[in-house]
Amino acid sequence: MCAAATVLRDVFGFDSFRPGQQEIIDAVTRGDNVLAIMPTGGGKSLCFQLPALMRDGVTVVISPLIALMRDQVRALREAGVEAGALTSGNTEEETAEVWDALEGGRLKLLYIAPERLASGAALGMLRRIGVGLIAVDEAHCVSQWGHDFRPDYLRIGELRRALNVPLAAFTATADAETRDEIVTRLFDGQPPETFLHGFDRPNIHLAFAAKDNPRRQILHFAAARKGQSGIVYCGTRAKTESLAAALRQEGHLSLHYHGGMDPEERRDTEARFQREDGLIVVATVAFGMGVDKPDIRWVAHADLPKSIEAYYQEIGRSGRDGAPAETLTLFGPDDIRLRRSQIDEGLAPPERRAADHARLNALLGLAEALKCRRATLLSYFGETEVECGKCDLCDSPADVFDGTEAVRKALSAILRTGEW
Ligand code: ADP
Ligand code: MG
Ligand code: ZN
Repeated sequence: MCAAATVLRDVFGFDSFRPGQQEIIDAVTRGDNVLAIMPTGGGKSLCFQLPALMRDGVTVVISPLIALMRDQVRALREAGVEAGALTSGNTEEETAEVWDALEGGRLKLLYIAPERLASGAALGMLRRIGVGLIAVDEAHCVSQWGHDFRPDYLRIGELRRALNVPLAAFTATADAETRDEIVTRLFDGQPPETFLHGFDRPNIHLAFAAKDNPRRQILHFAAARKGQSGIVYCGTRAKTESLAAALRQEGHLSLHYHGGMDPEERRDTEARFQREDGLIVVATVAFGMGVDKPDIRWVAHADLPKSIEAYYQEIGRSGRDGAPAETLTLFGPDDIRLRRSQIDEGLAPPERRAADHARLNALLGLAEALKCRRATLLSYFGETEVECGKCDLCDSPADVFDGTEAVRKALSAILRTGEW
């Protein structure tokens, strides 16, 4: 058994690597600069935690959320690994303990909040303690046009230059723009060894349909799945309410959910969805972040999502248990108009708007794809070798093509000219 596999078993208690982990761990352990892109839940933490134990010196981990850092530190300590965090959430005792371990040369992983990098003292400290590796979790936080931008992440490049040690960056955000930004800002434009893995969710069936009578289309889709837990995403609050009522009228168990409801009502709905079988929640995008129900059997979009990333996130909430799940996304020219104007009327700077338009265009490209939906989706994320058999276009290419021809043509015209 190789050394990494032994550590995997003896320290982390796992029998085998998840897909992609081993190659990443080997590269990080060797001291290569690495950018690893894996979906949420893919097991990114292990890809820096395990190398930290195989390498000399301290691995500094930069992570955007104190809660995430504390969780990881706790789990590492339980596994017998010397790890500590320096964050504003520390008690004095905790901080003193971390310093003791650092000075005694025992600490293997030091988690620090990006804000800390703003002080010269932190840099001095990091120089003294013998850092062997910098690991950046949630590396997309360096992207100024992304939704999780953290200005202090911009200091990480400087830190890497000052310490002159390898850097390994991890994220689940895979679009090419974000990747480029990470390479520019964290690696000074020198492309690191890049790994991109595991975005396919083979149990999720993908389908798009042109809007014809959207309410009827959604009711029809739900009727075929009666008694199963599902989510319908809508573009407006009003629509969540009317569609939930329509579903109830058809005998479904259904509740609406949106950001205009009071917090208690929202929590209630979340809790019921989590607990009960066969409930349909009709929601705006406000629903989802905290939803971790493994057996959501279907997700439908009554309106086109705002971007290909949003689409992937939203359908990805179904079938977490690995059992088959179905999705349907409706789209029409009105959606495109709405989404475009939302981007244009937003307060984002022009560069960010251009990026948002590109992400919307990528979704339109998926909506009007002519062959395999899954291959089209995953190629956007940079994955090329894709086996499908579970999308509407692989099921019956001709049928679907005919059904959406008119809208497809309209979309093509819009995409070509940018006008409507
Ligand atoms: P990510 O950061 O990519 O979203 P995490 O690092 O939080 O994912 O890992 C998700 C879960 O998978 C964690 O509970 C972790 O312990 C588990 N995990 C990671 N690697 C393995 C493995 N090789 N075998 C079993 N479970 C693993
Ligand atoms: Mg993570
Ligand atoms: Zn396919």
